[in-house]
Amino acid sequence: MEHKNLIGHDGVVHEGLLNGHTGFLVDVTCDAGRFAVVHPYEKLDPARVTETPLSCPACAAANAPAAGPLHRGHLAHQYAEDVLALADSRGYPPAGDDEGLRLAFVALGEKVPPSRRLYPLIREHLTDMLTERALAVPEGVPQVLVPYTRYTGGTVQAPAGPGDRLMSDGVASGHFPIVRVEAVEESPTGIIVTVREKGWHPFTWPAHELGRCFFKLDRAPHCPQARASDHQP
Ligand SMILES: [Zn+2]
Repeated sequence: MEHKNLIGHDGVVHEGLLNGHTGFLVDVTCDAGRFAVVHPYEKLDPARVTETPLSCPACAAANAPAAGPLHRGHLAHQYAEDVLALADSRGYPPAGDDEGLRLAFVALGEKVPPSRRLYPLIREHLTDMLTERALAVPEGVPQVLVPYTRYTGGTVQAPAGPGDRLMSDGVASGHFPIVRVEAVEESPTGIIVTVREKGWHPFTWPAHELGRCFFKLDRAPHCPQARASDHQP
């Protein structure tokens, strides 16, 4: 999540909260909403980005060092952490769509569930957390990179490690199997990646071909139970 000062339609400087990979304006910190800065179906005009200090009283108050109202972005971050922790306890990646988020808050039993207005910011934080996790390099594993597409936009190159789930890019065959990485090892002919599709024998790929044929879905779940079951045949 990126924060930038943006000039609104009325000339007031708001704090904008943006997708760090695509530059999409997700929301502003105050109650004015993103349409105080962009028009519907229009991209953010780069000329609206400014170094001028915030002149919107609500945006400025949310950024005041002490005793201000809770910053919308920080609140969304807390909710995103809760959603991710719930998903980890189940061993599955979290659903980022509106209904998935709503169900997560029902399951969490939040006394005051977040308003729908906060969902895009929660989704953005959740995407940042999942991207950070996808980019984490497992220690001692030779580096093999595969594309990883962020839920809210933007593609990055992520390392493949044991336990990761990859999807085969089957655009030619129409077949998109999901495989789990079992090992990434050095061999006399180069780095070899062993993957296994559920119910099939393991299959090895030369590292340089992996990034052409697969993209990364997610890092191995942070759930101890799910990890233990990964090692079962
Ligand atoms: Zn504002």
